[in-house]
Amino acid sequence: MTGLLTVVGLGPGAAEHRTPAAAQAVREAEVVLGYSAYIDACADLLGAGQTVLRGRMTEESRRAEQAVALAAAGHRVALVSSGDAGVYGMATLALSTAAELPVARRPEVRVLPGVTAALASSALVGAPLAHDFACLTLSSLLTPWEEVERRLRAVAAADLALALYNPRSAGRTWQLDRAREVLLEHRGPGTQVALVTDAARPEQHVRLTTLGELDSSVVGMTTTVLVGASATRRLGDWLVTPRAAGA
Ligand code: SAH
Repeated sequence: MTGLLTVVGLGPGAAEHRTPAAAQAVREAEVVLGYSAYIDACADLLGAGQTVLRGRMTEESRRAEQAVALAAAGHRVALVSSGDAGVYGMATLALSTAAELPVARRPEVRVLPGVTAALASSALVGAPLAHDFACLTLSSLLTPWEEVERRLRAVAAADLALALYNPRSAGRTWQLDRAREVLLEHRGPGTQVALVTDAARPEQHVRLTTLGELDSSVVGMTTTVLVGASATRRLGDWLVTPRAAGA
């Protein structure tokens, strides 16, 4: 029997921001695996007949191996991530782990999209990512910090709007302040910034500020920092990036 591994992006939080395809894949799975908070995010879809394996944040490769092994053994498996599983999520690990198996033993793998944090966050403040934009993670766990700075400089110099993921955690407290300094090398202090925390969750919170006044102490693990391009304007409570000069 050929199993199926579905890598599922659950969206940013509330069930109404989850795609019907994602919900169906979780409901139909015999085994659901994911970091504990992501299992909670799809608890409404889980039934008594399913095996649910909760993992820790740091056990991602083990979780991917487990998911692939179960699918290779013939099970229908859903591996869940928040947002989109292909954006700083589990999709890469799952696909590369499956690719290591001999073709004859490799399970079918599907990746289902989800609303990523940058988009859930930008919608709450209007349309700051309406033209060209970039996403960067400030977590130097997987990217060396020098490389993060090099990319920040390139984005700032290219005048792209920017969504910063993983801006701060209990153990990573200086990165956002340093990122702000690097961005200020190319961008004015009046550059629009939105701090969106827990988008699409009950604790959802939005703060509008500027690069010059950005207070990193109010940013946490579940915040996405949106930095406007030079053309991004504040219109009341909205941030808007024109889609063409003057539009
Ligand atoms: N795969 C996820 C991202 C995981 S990285 C996605 O596509 O959204 C984790 C980072 O995502 C957090 O540090 C935060 O910057 C951002 N994030 C995740 N959920 C969020 C939410 N509901 N609101 C704001 N930011 C969020």
